[in-house]
Amino acid sequence: MSEVFCRCLSTLRLWDPSFRMRGLPNYCLCCCVNTLLQTFSATWELGDLLDKWDETGVRTDDRNVPLQLKKVLADMRKDLAQPAPHHDFLRCLDRNSLRLNTQHDADEVFLTILNLTHQQMDNRSLAVEIQNLYKISLETQLQCLVCNSMQTRASYLLSLPLHIKEDHNSLGGCMTSFFEHQELTGINCCFCEQCGKKTPSKQGVKLLSLPPILCVHLKRFRNSNGYTRKLDCRVTFPEIFDFSEIAKEAFSTDFAQNDCKYTLHAVVVHSGYAMFGHYTAYVHHRVNQRWYYANDSHVKQASWKEVQSTYGGYRRDTAYMLMYRRGSKQEGQQPELSG
Ligand SMILES: [Zn+2]
Repeated sequence: MSEVFCRCLSTLRLWDPSFRMRGLPNYCLCCCVNTLLQTFSATWELGDLLDKWDETGVRTDDRNVPLQLKKVLADMRKDLAQPAPHHDFLRCLDRNSLRLNTQHDADEVFLTILNLTHQQMDNRSLAVEIQNLYKISLETQLQCLVCNSMQTRASYLLSLPLHIKEDHNSLGGCMTSFFEHQELTGINCCFCEQCGKKTPSKQGVKLLSLPPILCVHLKRFRNSNGYTRKLDCRVTFPEIFDFSEIAKEAFSTDFAQNDCKYTLHAVVVHSGYAMFGHYTAYVHHRVNQRWYYANDSHVKQASWKEVQSTYGGYRRDTAYMLMYRRGSKQEGQQPELSG
């Protein structure tokens, strides 16, 4: 019997046979954090890494984000009777400048939680492992259009920020646009060391490697003239996304990954307007292979069709962040028979 299957069975035993996911009450406008906690909980690799951490060296536990994250994810898994397993986590974030009673942007909070986790863990190798779970490695290129010399620099992102057009979009199309190189001319010319002056150039990024968990941020909030508005336009996304379908120009020559298929396991949904909205989540459950919809303390089973209703275009409940896991199968599914 595989280790994974044993783990699934032991998880099943902890749950009521009629299985329901753990809801989190809204407390001081915390729907954004509640939603992210549901997606972190569905990313069991994160909980598994945090469980490996011996945190006895932590002195001020009420300010330590990785410690409180570890605790709340463990409590959510256990489905204990306590009404609000996330209170200490919320207070901990408040002490780390993510204030209670404030509307936050889910992508910013996601990145803040990951960055604070990285900074505040005393076990550095585990901190790096957690970061590597989400780390998208990129090569930034700047090519002079006069002498063709190229400057490259390695960088990374923890979520992929995709620009969306005020029209119909697809995830693959947004990805291809993200990796399209842009010409910099006129006042945007850059200094070329070879030419010894500012010259027209071409700038862009290429993929060096993809992480086990890929977080995509659909940039639905746009600033114009000091006013932020939300783009409700349609962005379609598949349950299984294959990177080999995007333009070959997106990949660095050093990219050496065979498995480029990713399976969706969580969607952060934003409802309402830019200045006043609400966050909820669709998450795919590891054991029973069903989609659930978590709206603070209310959790219900959902269908893939309901997840697709967040594409946008005709309603204001729109997908804002997508979490994909490397591999073309949801864990727990039977492997495909070959031949
Ligand atoms: Zn040059």
